[in-house]
Amino acid sequence: MTDSIFQKIIDKEIPAEILFEDDKCLVFKDINPIAPIHVLIIPKKPIEKISDSKKEDTEILGYLLLKAGDIARELGVEEAFRLVVNNGAGAQQTVFHLHIHLIAGREFSWPPG
Ligand code: AMP
Repeated sequence: MTDSIFQKIIDKEIPAEILFEDDKCLVFKDINPIAPIHVLIIPKKPIEKISDSKKEDTEILGYLLLKAGDIARELGVEEAFRLVVNNGAGAQQTVFHLHIHLIAGREFSWPPG
């Protein structure tokens, strides 16, 4: 896998507004937010998309969801937020490094577009 823009953020080659970082994941603000709160939660492991994840990724995938809950609480939006994972170009994935969108701070509708 060639380095994606998110790998460059992990490697600090390009800047981002980082909210949280540890050895397993990085959380930073989306550069083009679609809601007052829009952050991205990514694994440091370079998994291109959720359908590429393997059994060995069980722990990191669970960790990312737990982290999403932590971040939502820290941002005070734990009662109403949405997590989105776009998988593949046909689902509007544009950056091929797995990421969870955490979106909050506005009205939601269902179904999503
Ligand atoms: P997706 O379409 O699901 O692949 O989402 C990719 C997201 O990455 C989009 O919401 C972009 O706005 C966001 N994005 C792209 N480049 C950057 C960047 N340099 N810093 C922060 N967010 C970015």
